[in-house]
Amino acid sequence: MPGAHELLMERPLIDPFGRQISYIRVSVTDRCDFRCVYCMSEDMTFLPKRDLLTLEELDRLCSAFVARGTRKIRITGGEPLVRRNIMTLFASLSRHLDSGALEEVTVTTNGSQLARYAKELYSHGVRRINVSLDTLDPGKFREVTRWGDLSTVMKGIDAAQNAGLKIKINAVALKDVNEGEISSMIRWAHGRAMDMTFIEVMPLGEIETQRADQYLPLTQVQARLSDEFTLQASDYQTGGPARYVMVKETGGRVGFITPLTHNFCESCNRVRITCTGTLYMCLGQEDAADLRGPLRASDNNDLINECLDQAILRKPKGHDFVIDRATSRPAVGRHMNVTGG
Ligand code: SAM
Ligand code: SF4
Repeated sequence: MPGAHELLMERPLIDPFGRQISYIRVSVTDRCDFRCVYCMSEDMTFLPKRDLLTLEELDRLCSAFVARGTRKIRITGGEPLVRRNIMTLFASLSRHLDSGALEEVTVTTNGSQLARYAKELYSHGVRRINVSLDTLDPGKFREVTRWGDLSTVMKGIDAAQNAGLKIKINAVALKDVNEGEISSMIRWAHGRAMDMTFIEVMPLGEIETQRADQYLPLTQVQARLSDEFTLQASDYQTGGPARYVMVKETGGRVGFITPLTHNFCESCNRVRITCTGTLYMCLGQEDAADLRGPLRASDNNDLINECLDQAILRKPKGHDFVIDRATSRPAVGRHMNVTGG
């Protein structure tokens, strides 16, 4: 007789378009110590702390996904490393790395707390992290993040590399802000053995600025880069949405995440869970399922599994992001810090 675990492994989460969910992104808090201009408005209302799942509940939810075939977990936010005692979640998830059920636990961070946590992350089995950094200019960094300090992030990057973590730098391509810095950022990142990925800004949540004033299509960026560098096609994949090229001159990789100019939904293998246990099947759609109710209603995972079976049938084919002057409303009302990047 197969055990409960084997039976669940025979029920992988496959959506109506044949895409199997093997990757979850978990936003462990919607709070952040920065206020990046494209992510949040300056004056944000955050979720009441009582609505949050505890770290034990987040672990249980992640483990329910692992039992259904999730191989990779990205911890994100808000700023995940500002959640109190967050290292206990990494510590408990590491048992799935030890057992081989999970290939990878990783984190996306703004870097502000890395100097404090890098060694501990490594000790809990984290090997690769993404650090979001949009500019190397301290003044611009302050403008973009509103509250951030570049030198603190740089110390965090040093600490992470010293701890043995492999870093990928993620930058949102921003018109008139880091447009002129793209190639110097690549040289800097590759000079420190870090891959560098650029992201198109997505119309998520109301912010102070018109999205069209921020949006820089990566088709333009790539065309300009090929005047300066020899870009060679690469089939490198990390299981995420980026397409990569090799830069011959630096020997490093550059990724492009292009939800606007070239959507990548056909190969989407992921869903997102918020810190209140809401499951979003797509970053760019409103439809959601509540997992907190089933989680709290019973100590076994039957209700969660029923909910997952139903939710996966509703995973949409893709998002329909638009950024133009005629479209002033965001694609979805929630900001990026709710569902995580
Ligand atoms: N606070 C962490 C950080 O900044 O890395 C993790 C959460 S943050 C929401 C994850 C990623 O989403 C970051 O790389 C950030 O630059 C990106 N991001 C935030 N808002 C975005 C938007 N509207 N469009 C595209 N990327 C966005
Ligand atoms: Fe915070 Fe990350 Fe959003 Fe910036 S992008 S405000 S660091 S959650």
